Amino acid sequence: MNVSDIILELNEELPSGVKLAAVSKFHPADAIREAYAAGQRIFAESRPQELFAKVSELSEESAPDGRKLYQDIEWHFIGHLQTNKLKLVLPYVSMVQSVDSERLLRAIDMWGRENRRVTDVLLECHIASEETKQGFSADEIRNIVASAEDFANVRIRGLMGMATFTDDERVIRSDFSRIQALFNEISAGAGSAASALKDFTELSIGMSEDYRIALEYGSTMVRIGTMIFGPRVY
Ligand SMILES: *Cc1c(COP(=O)(O)O)cnc(C)c1O
Repeated sequence: MNVSDIILELNEELPSGVKLAAVSKFHPADAIREAYAAGQRIFAESRPQELFAKVSELSEESAPDGRKLYQDIEWHFIGHLQTNKLKLVLPYVSMVQSVDSERLLRAIDMWGRENRRVTDVLLECHIASEETKQGFSADEIRNIVASAEDFANVRIRGLMGMATFTDDERVIRSDFSRIQALFNEISAGAGSAASALKDFTELSIGMSEDYRIALEYGSTMVRIGTMIFGPRVY
């Protein structure tokens, strides 16, 4: 199947209200053009330079009538973001899904104050059993959420997580159920408490291999690369 058929099928399969982020990292701009032509609008990238290069290339293209193309792409950042790379990323993205340290959160907030911009972010929650994966513990997330008003130029929109890389579905379910419980706990407190968290609505879980499971655990956004674009060439 080609890229556009897969996107159309995914859109039919995903419940309404669940967003599809097409993970285009390591794929050329042509893959994005093809997905865009099939109606895809949210694209996710994981490396600052690569994001910047693709945004630059696509946003400069015009239709024969002079109209700029690809202006309505919503770029999401999903990789590790170093604080010295913010200016390659923050001007162009509508969401940073991978905030994995308080230092990064503060830096995004500072950048927003200097550039008069509020950035939507997700807090990356470490749910996998692998030590290598990044992200906050549940308690670290509770602490940040408790001080959300300190970050006036950041809107904490929810949580992102990656399950353990395994074929054992029980492990994946256990990972997703923990992040769902944390998400529900925070959402429940968000309505009554500080309005700083009133937009806490997104639970970004589910990738090519496990998105169907993630849907059972309340995913509001799946991040799918390989299934749409094929294997990545690193
Ligand atoms: C690469 C990546 C994905 C997409 O993974 P696939 O298995 O190709 O669907 C999703 N989320 C994050 C954070 C990623 O880095």
